[in-house]
Amino acid sequence: VISPDTIERIRERVRLSEIVGKSVRLERRGRSLLGLCPFHKEKSPSFHVHDDRGFFHCFGCQASGDVFKFIMETEGLSFHEAATSLGEKVGISVELDMSSDEQKQRQARRKREQELYHINEAAAAFFERMLLEHPSSRHARAELEARGLKDDEATRAALKAFRIGYAPSGWDELGTELARLGLRLQNAESVGLLVPRSQGSGYYDRFRHRLMFAILDVQGRIVGFSGRALAGLDVGKSATPPAKYVNSPETPIYKKRDTVFGLYQSRQALRDNAPCVVVEGNFDVVSLHARGVVRAVAPLGTAFTVEQARQIRRFTSEVIFLFDADTAGKNAVKKARDPCQAADLRARVGTLPEGKDPDDFSRAQGREGVELVLTRARGMLDYLVADVLEGSVAADDSAAWAAKIREVGELIRAEQDPTVRALAEQQVVQLAARMGIADRARFGELERAVRRVTHDPERSPNVQGAARVKPAAAQTRGTQRLVEQVLGAFLDFPELLDGPELEPFEGAFSGDLALSVAVLRRLLEERGRSTNFHETLAKIPEPLRPFVSARLAAPEHEDLTLARRQLMQNLKKILGLEHSKMAQETTREIERARLEGDLAQEMELLRDLERRARMRQGI
Ligand SMILES: [Zn+2]
Repeated sequence: VISPDTIERIRERVRLSEIVGKSVRLERRGRSLLGLCPFHKEKSPSFHVHDDRGFFHCFGCQASGDVFKFIMETEGLSFHEAATSLGEKVGISVELDMSSDEQKQRQARRKREQELYHINEAAAAFFERMLLEHPSSRHARAELEARGLKDDEATRAALKAFRIGYAPSGWDELGTELARLGLRLQNAESVGLLVPRSQGSGYYDRFRHRLMFAILDVQGRIVGFSGRALAGLDVGKSATPPAKYVNSPETPIYKKRDTVFGLYQSRQALRDNAPCVVVEGNFDVVSLHARGVVRAVAPLGTAFTVEQARQIRRFTSEVIFLFDADTAGKNAVKKARDPCQAADLRARVGTLPEGKDPDDFSRAQGREGVELVLTRARGMLDYLVADVLEGSVAADDSAAWAAKIREVGELIRAEQDPTVRALAEQQVVQLAARMGIADRARFGELERAVRRVTHDPERSPNVQGAARVKPAAAQTRGTQRLVEQVLGAFLDFPELLDGPELEPFEGAFSGDLALSVAVLRRLLEERGRSTNFHETLAKIPEPLRPFVSARLAAPEHEDLTLARRQLMQNLKKILGLEHSKMAQETTREIERARLEGDLAQEMELLRDLERRARMRQGI
């Protein structure tokens, strides 16, 4: 845990515009700096940076935050990693915060991890060189060529980005090389490159006569390898053919569940919030990248995990699964649904022609063909429902029908997004028609059954209820905008907070606005000591936080007098709304008192109403 004090010291030393300026050209506009947003594609700039306050905000995609957030988002780092990296830039070590034991432990662990990354890096460089130099590497090059990965520029770039190499066929060629470099072979064992010999001492190479893919984490460090078997040489100990893929074991720096193959190489393309394309195999990923689809990734020989979904979610909000069109592929898509929902990742499914994988398909159809399939990808739920309804069932097989209906109902029920769920309920009948369920009576049965199964008062969206809520919601939004404008004026010119002209309007400050104003006033009182808006932001009630963060990056008022005038107008409006709300309530109470025959109460309430009306006119 890093102390808030250290965070603050780093924040003070780092200039946000300097960090942002490395990737975005910023120009002064009013009180903030303006540039093209690095988080979404835009032609006219809507990305604001306020240097003194240390906030950025994009009015196009609502990206918002401080320098730590900026580094986390653009470099795909955790908060701790971002703080460490920024700290290093300005000479503040975040490790000083820990007890000396913790510090020692941490430093030792980091040193060890560095050694492991280093040995992987040395191995990757060796494999790359062997692909060009080793006599047996012709088999590896033949494999690449057979897949249409010829010697053009895009392919060269992809092979380089994925650190494609060749592990030679001898039993100790890598070991010999690492020893020659003076590296500790125990470390090579720790990362799974070398395996101890069962007899005698020493090691042998785990990867022999294989096409090598380096596995990179989101920071671009090599955490492991995946090696594909090659034809041409017999390198196995036994008569059984070698496994198609051999992967690094789990090590201190490599956890399969947490790692997404190709995410590092896709991160630039994903930054515009383009959907991430998830395929099954390493070769699919490399082929797609070589053909210009540079946002393809794969889980590493595991089912798609929630950790992997979260890694992807750091870069984009949508994935498109492009799995093989066989049963195994379909099942894998089905299993990927829960992790996506858990990570708040929207999921679609692209359909390849029967019997094709993304590698075959992109070789034959090129980038355009792949993009077309991606454009046509269907929503996950739509796809799964269609898949259930697809198989033919005899019209009189009631048990099979019942099973299908139940399955569709369950699929819809498990959907978290109420809008998608409601749409699916409506669409399921049309879908049945599309799938060729031609019997009208069956339609009706299906529709009723789906409603029955999916109707769960807790989860199912109440359409009528939503309609009734609408006017009230619109009213709330209007009030919300007024509240934001008031708060905005205070943020632009904090001196407005203690103006005597506010006194008659104290009644306008209620709820979240009152809390926010209190927070800002405290800040104003302590201003001699700090003008730390970051700490303040955390104390602002949650619903107002996005607005405050945006306003801190992009102030609206340039002129104090104008800001004051607008503030007064808005406060008057809020007060007016408050009064009429109270007047309505009082009127209802008067009504009740009258019905109950309570004359004294009725008179009291009437006087109250009158007093309020006079007060309101007084303003
Ligand atoms: Zn943006």
